[in-house]
Amino acid sequence: MDLGLRGKKALVTGGTRGVGRGIVLALAHAGVDVVTCYRSESEHVASLERELKEIGGDHLVVQADLTQPVRVARLLEQVRETHGGVLDLVVNNAGAISHIPYEQLSLDEWQRVLATNLTAAHLVVQHALPLLRAGSSVVSIGSKAVDAGIPLRSHYTATKAALVGLNRSLAKEFGPRGIRFNVVALGVVETENLHALPEADRRLMIERYSAKTALGRLGLPEEVAGAVLWLAGDLSRYVTGSTVSVDGGIS
Ligand code: NDP
Repeated sequence: MDLGLRGKKALVTGGTRGVGRGIVLALAHAGVDVVTCYRSESEHVASLERELKEIGGDHLVVQADLTQPVRVARLLEQVRETHGGVLDLVVNNAGAISHIPYEQLSLDEWQRVLATNLTAAHLVVQHALPLLRAGSSVVSIGSKAVDAGIPLRSHYTATKAALVGLNRSLAKEFGPRGIRFNVVALGVVETENLHALPEADRRLMIERYSAKTALGRLGLPEEVAGAVLWLAGDLSRYVTGSTVSVDGGIS
């Protein structure tokens, strides 16, 4: 199906693995030119570059640790150069998580997760604004953990809740300029991280979380991408300030 996205210009943060990779590939298949970034070198970088080359289009995969404000500024400079000064879609996807009892949560860890999930998203949007125009769309990847609450992840859920507030306020502030802001709140999505778990842990995790969903299974990165593609284009032109759940009906 032609979603009318061909030739559009996108930035997706954290696109080399997991959910972000699914979004990058789906956008590229839809004819969107994509800049994406990662934090550390891995085999995922070269394999993504290979896949993007096979799909075709004008793409760029760059190293940029988003917890460093100067790297965010440089990244958006690279986006401006690559995309010719315009940006139709920003996806704040890069994220960090850890499982730590609240009483043992260090300030360093609190700040690391805030810097990655919240401050980086804020800086990316702020630096992207000069490139955004009427019709541009900003999507931030959130979590259903905000509604449910999850022990050992208080710092993580705090950042994802904050993204929702940021999103609603930016939707109002920039609605008059025709720029839309939405959150896509995920349930549990199968990624390389899950596949890297020992077999028994992986099976337990899949069983436990699948049982909480209406559809009886975990999600896939390409299923998150479906919602992002919809939010990227004209089909969703009256949707802003929203949190769209992509969670298989988890509760
Ligand atoms: P992964 O850990 O699989 O991938 C994260 C990606 O972000 C990688 O490409 C990673 O790069 C990049 N990244 C992380 N930190 C930085 C940084 N400081 N600077 C630049 N890039 C960075 O994550 P998921 O795919 O699981 O999650 C993606 C998003 O979806 C996150 O925001 C997460 O909170 C959210 N989410 C995921 C769920 C799930 O079940 N998977 C559930 C709910 C929400 P590198 O490879 O270099 O580390």
